[in-house]
Amino acid sequence: MALRQLEKTYDPKQAEERWYQFWIDKKYFHATLDHPGEPYTIVIPPPNITGSLHIGHALNNTLQDILIRWRRMQGRNALWIPGTDHAGIATQNVVERQLLAEGSSREALGREAFIARVWDWKTQSGGTILQQLKRLGASCDWDRVRFTMDEGLSKAVREVFVRLYEEGLIYRGERLINWCPRCLTALSDIEVEHEETKGKLYHIRYPLADDPATSLIVATTRPETMLGDTAVAVHPEDPRYRHLIGKHVRLPLTTREIPIVGDPVLVDREFGTGVVKITPAHDFNDFLAGERHHLPRFAILDAHARLDPESLQKAAVEPAVRESVQGLPVSQARPKIEEHLQTREFLVKGDDHKMAVGKCYRCKTVVEPYLSPQWFVNIQPLADPAIKAVEEGRIRIIPESWMNNYLGWMRDIKDWCISRQIWWGHRIPAWYCRQCNEDSTIQTASSGGGKRSYSFSAKAKPIVALRAPTHCPDCGQHDFLQESDVLDTWFSSALWPFSTLGWPDQTPELKKFYPTSTLVTGLDILFFWVARMIMMGLKFMGDVPFRDVYIHALVRDAEGQKMSKSKGNVIDPLSIMGTYGTDALRFTLASMASPGRDIKLTEERIEGYRNFANKIWNAARFILMHVEGTREPVRPEDRSFADRWILSRLNRTIEDTTAALEQYRFDHAAGLLYQFIWHEYCDWYLELVKPALQDKESAEARSTRATLIESFEVMLRLLHPFMPFLTEEIWQALPHESGSDSVMIRPYPSSQSEWNAKEIEEQFASLERFVTVARAGRALLAYPPGARLTLFGAAKDPQERISLERMRPHLEQLSRASVQITPEEAWPSEKVLRLVAEGLTIGMYVEGDVDLQKVLDRIVKQSADAVKEVTRLNAKLANVEFIAKAPADVVAEHRQRIITLTHEHSMLASSEQQLRSML
Ligand SMILES: [Zn+2]
Ligand SMILES: [Zn+2]
Repeated sequence: MALRQLEKTYDPKQAEERWYQFWIDKKYFHATLDHPGEPYTIVIPPPNITGSLHIGHALNNTLQDILIRWRRMQGRNALWIPGTDHAGIATQNVVERQLLAEGSSREALGREAFIARVWDWKTQSGGTILQQLKRLGASCDWDRVRFTMDEGLSKAVREVFVRLYEEGLIYRGERLINWCPRCLTALSDIEVEHEETKGKLYHIRYPLADDPATSLIVATTRPETMLGDTAVAVHPEDPRYRHLIGKHVRLPLTTREIPIVGDPVLVDREFGTGVVKITPAHDFNDFLAGERHHLPRFAILDAHARLDPESLQKAAVEPAVRESVQGLPVSQARPKIEEHLQTREFLVKGDDHKMAVGKCYRCKTVVEPYLSPQWFVNIQPLADPAIKAVEEGRIRIIPESWMNNYLGWMRDIKDWCISRQIWWGHRIPAWYCRQCNEDSTIQTASSGGGKRSYSFSAKAKPIVALRAPTHCPDCGQHDFLQESDVLDTWFSSALWPFSTLGWPDQTPELKKFYPTSTLVTGLDILFFWVARMIMMGLKFMGDVPFRDVYIHALVRDAEGQKMSKSKGNVIDPLSIMGTYGTDALRFTLASMASPGRDIKLTEERIEGYRNFANKIWNAARFILMHVEGTREPVRPEDRSFADRWILSRLNRTIEDTTAALEQYRFDHAAGLLYQFIWHEYCDWYLELVKPALQDKESAEARSTRATLIESFEVMLRLLHPFMPFLTEEIWQALPHESGSDSVMIRPYPSSQSEWNAKEIEEQFASLERFVTVARAGRALLAYPPGARLTLFGAAKDPQERISLERMRPHLEQLSRASVQITPEEAWPSEKVLRLVAEGLTIGMYVEGDVDLQKVLDRIVKQSADAVKEVTRLNAKLANVEFIAKAPADVVAEHRQRIITLTHEHSMLASSEQQLRSML
């Protein structure tokens, strides 16, 4: 049978397209219910429909694909469910920007038309990222693509909402929430990013109402909010102030008097002046203090965080002040207020001050605490079982170090604000009877340009149901308004592991594939997403959503900086795949995925693994030149030293790679494969077998050919999950059993104990040492690579001497020398340069017109360089700061390098001495 010959160079592009289509056509990615294997399920972290594949996705999906391909080859019923997230605010922003460019707006379109427009956009552009995942080689089950707003998942959302509401785990209330004045919606706590900025700490004088000559001094970073103060607080045991509790102060710039209250929670006697102002509508701690003291709330900002004229009037702000600040955003109102306080002599001082400011994670606008009716999940009852599941090990978090982050956060969890004042998302299934809620209707829905879209106050009584109610149970009317808020995007993704399998219907898929096996995700969504999936899975499925959570690092640039367009340091996976091939990118990401450490990615690194792919390609070409179209049987006892050695090494690589994958050490697995394939298989083994292949008809050639092809085929299977395209392209060209159509459905290699040959490996170690020293000697003498040397070898250990003698043909071949293994006494007394290394002494017969002075110079220089390098490395290792910061493998690498250099140095030193005597 004639074999397909491989082209001179590997062309990733055409191979990738061809084989991906082939796999799809064969339905290899599709998981079926009748597959006999134990299920292995992964749900994809659904990328946003607005997304385009970035390097973070590339890492996340490469790791998932490695796991799923590996488990599939192991015979598991492997299912990887793909899909996308509707990404509420993000998507709404994209479409709103488009409308703006067309001179239109969301309001001009109206709710229904706007939503239709977003769906149109989704149909056209929302699938981009899934197409890009295919280029990455992702073996998702494309027959099961889900979307967080498709019919089934929306049904799951409504079901969960209604059940939680009925159990009292969802409630509506007027609360202070984080508000983005640009996106005009509530944000959950973790959607707020805190940033340190420069501000001022203002000290303001509040005169006592009954004794204006005496004042309390209040410190604040936000003087404009003082217009909404409704009390000042002191510590009830503070001797300076306790006699004032119950009295009033005049609130500057207003005509209001506000009480002095005692509050040991809010006030720290030691801090500042010991007096604080209470502004319940604009600060989270003040809101709680306001509840404790039954204080009124004056919200002075509108939805855009501008000072609202009507509210300022309600708060009794003096007309002159009001006129100068109304309608201004906070940043402009603040200096005006400062000016008023200054001219009226209320301002004592304003010092520079650093403070943390919360910003919207989407648009980076400063977030305001904002008082409004919102929907919340009463989270504690859901959090408790989710804490337990991790504590009891029913869910493993890997690396383990993140477990404490999870537990810490979960133990301190706050109620989850789930309503969003946007249009794109799952609309909350709640309705208000207009008749019964007439006095709760908020008339300000369109005032001041603030697009607050809710229309009922917190007092209103909603009807929560799966479907719109037909009539009101209280008054019998049927005039309803549906809640206009939609749910936080993370509400639907929290249900992802079971909603994608058909819940609330009890589908066979749900039964078979839930709980899923592994979740692969970034640390940034541990709380947004992972924690919530755990809570919802336990609540609605009565079981954990996944067994293992593997958290991978973030990809950064070479300097450890976050990649961003503005910095110009972005590595675009699509262009990388185009330049170096998908497998090179995948292998790079896997090899850098060390637990808990950010990946500092460089293009050079990817280029290096492209060379690795080429190296494998060239090995395949070499093999195909020598093997026949059919596999030849081989008896174990006919295998040569080289064959037995490579099989033993291969077996160890199979065991270690599998163990590494089981522990999610993608970096170790990739490193083992690289080391084995490049250094052992290509550099040593393929060299060693060349002589045996020369006489094609010999029994030795036959057995070598058989081992060559056998080991290479196993190696391709071992590598397949990491480099799916290259391995398939080569595998298809190799002779393989009829009936096997693809490497991806062949079994993953497992350990073959009959391949183990410890003794052979030890012998090989002697050979390697001998050849390495001989090569170093050749370089010292500056012999051209082709020149044949005469070498003498002596070993301290008698066993080693015997192995060297046995391997003499290999030594001669690889050192390009004639070799004699004899005791040193038998060596010629002159013209032999000795190299001593680790119990082995090699003598090189110095022939021709070698300039010994030059050799000596080289030795002296190399020797000095080695000393210098050892000194430098030792200094680094002695540096406490370096040791504390450096990753363990870097430290280990340094130590290993010191050992190697020390050996080299001692070898050179002995040669130097000897050479001097020869000169
Ligand atoms: Zn925003
Ligand atoms: Zn009613």
